[in-house]
Amino acid sequence: MNVILFGPPGAGKGTQSALMVEKLGMAHISTGDLFRENMKNETPLGKKAKEYVDSGALVPDQVVIDMVDDVLQKLGGKSFILDGFPRTVPQAEALEALLKKNSMNIEKAVFFEVPQNILLGRLTGRRVCKNCGATYHIEFKPTAKEGVCDSCGSDQVVQRKDDSEDVIQTRLDAYDKSTAPLKEYFQKTGQFVSIDGLGETDKVFSEIKSVVAP
Ligand code: AMP
Repeated sequence: MNVILFGPPGAGKGTQSALMVEKLGMAHISTGDLFRENMKNETPLGKKAKEYVDSGALVPDQVVIDMVDDVLQKLGGKSFILDGFPRTVPQAEALEALLKKNSMNIEKAVFFEVPQNILLGRLTGRRVCKNCGATYHIEFKPTAKEGVCDSCGSDQVVQRKDDSEDVIQTRLDAYDKSTAPLKEYFQKTGQFVSIDGLGETDKVFSEIKSVVAP
């Protein structure tokens, strides 16, 4: 089964995606990760995306759509998770065309329900390993040794530039304005499923599993 994960920043999409990769063997397509990777490597795409990502604004639809088009063509039949895409109604419409072109189908669009007041604390406390991408939280899931990744041992556990408080507000605003309308969109297509994004990681994962691998 192929699925879309969507919801506000800080809802837990990345954390759950990592578990779905590990336990369900799915391929993970995160447009945010792809932009960060391209920015790190200073590719033309990275240079195009940088000003938007750093300021918390959405990258223009066509840039994202072309990038996803590329990735879908290289997937080779594995079940996949789209994490952070689509993020606007025009992206969702473009995705339908891309899927058709590649004879693919997405069964579910899983919405992470998390109250607004929880998101800010989750985002400001988040730390990520620049080397392997593992994510931590200074309060809920700290590294054993400060700044050092439990997973790969590198000392590059840092705060994402766009997890600073002012940029987070821009990201939350972009979510309200452009992404929240996707709820209605996926209700109309019949793909919409809502899950409770609060609580323990394992509890959220078992709810996802009952949707994705019943
Ligand atoms: P994320 O890691 O999903 O929080 O994404 C980080 C940033 O990448 C976002 O704040 C946007 O600037 C950009 N981005 C990721 N996915 C998209 C998308 N589907 N459409 C537009 N911008 C995106």
